Amino acid sequence: MSDRVTQEKNCQTCSKPFTATMTKLLGHFPVPAAKFRQQAEECPSCKEAYRAKMEATARRRRLNFTEGQVKEYFTVNPPAQGDTLILAMSQFHRNAYRLVRVVNPASGKQLRIIVDKGDAFGGASYYRTGKSTFAPKGQTVLRPYVAMVAEKLNYESETDLSDADLQALLGG
Ligand SMILES: [Zn+2]
Repeated sequence: MSDRVTQEKNCQTCSKPFTATMTKLLGHFPVPAAKFRQQAEECPSCKEAYRAKMEATARRRRLNFTEGQVKEYFTVNPPAQGDTLILAMSQFHRNAYRLVRVVNPASGKQLRIIVDKGDAFGGASYYRTGKSTFAPKGQTVLRPYVAMVAEKLNYESETDLSDADLQALLGG
């Protein structure tokens, strides 16, 4: 028996024909061959488009900054005391944001950024990458001031923005 099964299918999204392939995983097919031949599937380019869309959505939730880009931004534009930055919180599948003011822009050797009102999960101290020093793997991150988004936010409370809101504000 072969290690792979192929089947001509029509993409369930764009209807274009493509050759679907199933290969063995640890010696077994993930689904029985007969089921694989029947089941609807997306073509590789629709799968890729979907993956890219999901990735863009995840990036917008972090205000279109990766950790590396945050670090680069703060290196080129060092924050100053009193500057406004944005806390992005994504606990419980929320996209919540709040404005914070910089209290100490360069604390210690690591030039940590201390903000006035921390967050219950992330605290008030952040690395230059935007990661919390208190919970580096947490879901609260510090982001530069992004005017289009900041206009919707305030210092007193968290504001929820939907993925559609973020797309309207940030584009893409
Ligand atoms: Zn397709």
